[in-house]
Amino acid sequence: MGTATPQVEGVDELIAALPKAELHVHLEGSIVPELALRLAARRGVALPGAERGVEGLREAYRFASFRDFLKVYIALSNTLQQAEDFSDAVFGIAEGLAAQRICWVEMTFTPMTHVTQGVDPDAMLAGLADGRRRALDQLGVEFAWVFDVVRSLPEQGPQTLELALRARDQGVIGLGVGGPEGPQWSVAPLAEVFERGRSEGLKSVPHAGEQHGPPSLRETLDLLAPDRIGHGVRCLEDPELTAELADRQIPLEVCPSSNVALGVVPSFAAHPLPRLLAAGVELSLASDDPPLFGTTLIEEYQRCAAAFEWGPAQVLAIAQAGVRHSFMPEQRKRELLAAQRQVAQAHASQP
Ligand SMILES: [Zn+2]
Repeated sequence: MGTATPQVEGVDELIAALPKAELHVHLEGSIVPELALRLAARRGVALPGAERGVEGLREAYRFASFRDFLKVYIALSNTLQQAEDFSDAVFGIAEGLAAQRICWVEMTFTPMTHVTQGVDPDAMLAGLADGRRRALDQLGVEFAWVFDVVRSLPEQGPQTLELALRARDQGVIGLGVGGPEGPQWSVAPLAEVFERGRSEGLKSVPHAGEQHGPPSLRETLDLLAPDRIGHGVRCLEDPELTAELADRQIPLEVCPSSNVALGVVPSFAAHPLPRLLAAGVELSLASDDPPLFGTTLIEEYQRCAAAFEWGPAQVLAIAQAGVRHSFMPEQRKRELLAAQRQVAQAHASQP
């Protein structure tokens, strides 16, 4: 760890070449400045710093506090008003994913943020569906959706579930919980909504153990029966909880640059990812809100490889975890795992 760690020759090339799955990324937080300006101009929405163009907006993206982060996030959400906005946002994001060879993405979306702003739910769902179809047809990027509820607004749970079920044939695979995390925001009021979601075949994919520690994870395990957990990195504060996650093989979606940017960990080098792996916890790498945290999925892999001295085998193992922990059809999983192994073998046999 520490500084100036040696980089294994060619690891960056392997990272770029591997077909990848991304399991923890938010739609609103994936809108790069160029796309944001286009969407904002169409609807006359003011974005922070935008009077100075892409550069000004890029600066606003380098927020100083969680409050600044929310300000930009909400402004980005406000650019999405009509079906074509949602469609163009999805397609624009998909272009960035295709460039990174991400072929499967489970993207979190917060429908009620938009509906409570007056967006027509049918137009919103139609726009998401249209963008998803174009992304698959033109770019080969397949979207699945996790519709999430803001933890501090559990009264939006039932309607979120209703929208998720309505859009199930448009790729909605699960329910999530996001937003602020702390002892004052229990997930207990969401237990019933998640129970109903699970009985309808939706996966449970809540955030937990990021801004709040083991009590939040304990509650999430007890009340929401998670199939996977967003972040979860603070399980390490409780060895029993860590052992339980490992034993029950509940995978974490780990987003190191997000954790650094939001002050969950002091630095990339100090990130607990290696300790989680050593404890036997299943995890994949993800980017959360990439342009807002100055990253991409590829950069998350590269930064981990540099900080934790990963060689090709470790890079491949993490990329395979992303596929194994995904909710793609089993046949697709087998094909993608095989394609990843092929790319790694070709990489290894290069002179
Ligand atoms: Zn997240």
